[in-house]
Amino acid sequence: MRVPAKINLQLAVGPVRADGYHPLVTVFHAVSLFDEVTVRHADAMALTVTGEDAAAVPADRSNLAWRAARALAKAAAVRTGAVRIEIRKRIPVAAGLAGGSADAAATLVACNELWQAGLSAPELAELAADLGSDVPFALVGGTAVGRGRGEQVTPALAAGSYHWALAFARSGLSAAQVYATSDRLRTARGKAGGQPPPVEPTLSAELMTALRSGDPGRVGPQLTNDLQPAALSLRPVLRRTLAAGQEHGALGAVVSGSGPTCAFLARDAAHASDLAVALTSSGVCRTAARASGPVPGAVVLRDGKPS
Ligand code: ATP
Repeated sequence: MRVPAKINLQLAVGPVRADGYHPLVTVFHAVSLFDEVTVRHADAMALTVTGEDAAAVPADRSNLAWRAARALAKAAAVRTGAVRIEIRKRIPVAAGLAGGSADAAATLVACNELWQAGLSAPELAELAADLGSDVPFALVGGTAVGRGRGEQVTPALAAGSYHWALAFARSGLSAAQVYATSDRLRTARGKAGGQPPPVEPTLSAELMTALRSGDPGRVGPQLTNDLQPAALSLRPVLRRTLAAGQEHGALGAVVSGSGPTCAFLARDAAHASDLAVALTSSGVCRTAARASGPVPGAVVLRDGKPS
């Protein structure tokens, strides 16, 4: 399987609910930065992780891919349900790029094929939503609106393709810590007489219109993320990262999800390469890479090619 990272073109976050989750409206966008997941028949569950960030990923039953395999085996009543999972990580870990969710989505599709379990796309989406808020989007990819906790996904009308530079940080951020910091900052702002957040987060009509135009010059100024102030307060260097991209002509600059990855919208592919080189050499990030989107979600590879 090949499965992409996501960035968020909009992330609107409401106040925390009684169940601990935050209501969201988000615009997901899958980009060409991929993990690879291979599944094989086995006598007992086993999982290996390779790639740059492998040491940061648990290789046991707490791995989201492992949990995905078990969930599918249960739902499809597969007798042994044992499988050997190999994850080749290219998506940085705890980066706001939903790499773990991507691996879980890939494993669901892969095991559905391997065991010929025959679960439908809606059935897989339901299992995905139980595994994590970002997992259903990773099944479909493209550009899509997420609601609820992000797990209710509908495709967005978006034209054209977009070229990005992604600036990766030296270490990850915990999504839970970013949400908690965001809540604290909002409470403090409220007490200081600032505007309280809207109860129901709303989809940006300006962003959706811009996406329909296919014009990156219109999309760039509409990128927004309610978690960005919290990510910046936890990781002040990200201000300099965002500023460096803007100085090099990015059409838009935003922290992706809970961060710390920053996404920069470029004019075209060549500009995305230039931006990535400039960001890497500026020292404001660990490294930067170019990527394009939208790309499809989890796909089966045969002979290394999407089938
Ligand atoms: P989110 O915003 O969905 O929390 P993220 O992109 O910020 O995700 P991930 O890369 O998904 O972060 O990793 C979050 C945590 O999940 C990691 O710290 C890791 O311990 C755990 N994890 C479990 N399974 C995986 C996996 N297959 N790949 C990466 N991380 C995993």
